[in-house]
Amino acid sequence: MKALAVELGGAHAECAVVDDQKILASQHLELDSAQGLFSVLPLFSETCRTLLKECRLSVKDCIGFSFSSCGLIDSTRGRVLSTNQKWDDAPSLDLPAWSQREFSLRLKIENDARMALLGEWYAGAARGLQDVAMITLGTGIGGAVMIDGRLLRGKHYQAGNLGGHQPVLFHGRKCTCGNLGCAEAEAAGWSLPLIVREWPGFRESGLAREPRINFEALFRLAAQSDRVAREVRDRCLHVWAAAAVGLVHAFDPEVIIFGGGVMKSAEVILPFIEDYVSRHAWTPWGKVQVRAAELGNQAGLLGAVPLLRE
Ligand SMILES: [Zn+2]
Repeated sequence: MKALAVELGGAHAECAVVDDQKILASQHLELDSAQGLFSVLPLFSETCRTLLKECRLSVKDCIGFSFSSCGLIDSTRGRVLSTNQKWDDAPSLDLPAWSQREFSLRLKIENDARMALLGEWYAGAARGLQDVAMITLGTGIGGAVMIDGRLLRGKHYQAGNLGGHQPVLFHGRKCTCGNLGCAEAEAAGWSLPLIVREWPGFRESGLAREPRINFEALFRLAAQSDRVAREVRDRCLHVWAAAAVGLVHAFDPEVIIFGGGVMKSAEVILPFIEDYVSRHAWTPWGKVQVRAAELGNQAGLLGAVPLLRE
């Protein structure tokens, strides 16, 4: 079962031809969201046609077009509802109509965090499970939940999506969403440099000499016993673990999956969160498992077939 798939991020897109649990061909595109989504649609068409040709396939071989996007998504009407300061024109676009015009294919669109969970459920770390929560640690923190084998969407398509915007500190840092002390405002790629630069002793830390303050630098210097890096890293671990307990209490999953680039340090992150969740979550039935995502940035693309079959 083959499908065309696009995954749209804040500053990139991945176009692919997917065959069930495999990606047959894909192309990474660096993009600037300020140019607007409308202006890059022709690039997506052209790239998808080239990829089909490489696979010796035609659009007639595909069951549909899967579009994974950042932001809040109305998957019933096929609309982007709200993006957080990127691809500002996306809510005005009718992507299903575009796909019909370009490819004569029906298009389904879903939020990127939900697509990552769908992919992990279909072909990765959540195979065979029915009740799963996923947290994707990146520039922001994505969230998605599956209950009884179905993606949770909710009245306004926000259910489970705002896992990164759970308040972990009510007197905390102002978040981009309007709330205070969200997990993402306290421990995500965008907030990390702000937190590190305010930390007592920052100037003496190796972090002050890093060209970019990111999680890679933080975990590397923490492993070298840099005091500030260690303290900030441990604080991030607590934020993520507190958010995980929040998800357990809200959604009753059997497994929580952590994904995102930071999981290169899974050997530090997973045991900490597992221990914290087992000590602090109220789960008299047993222990919630904490697992690393398996599919990396392919997860959202591999959600294509189950999304189109839903
Ligand atoms: Zn927030």
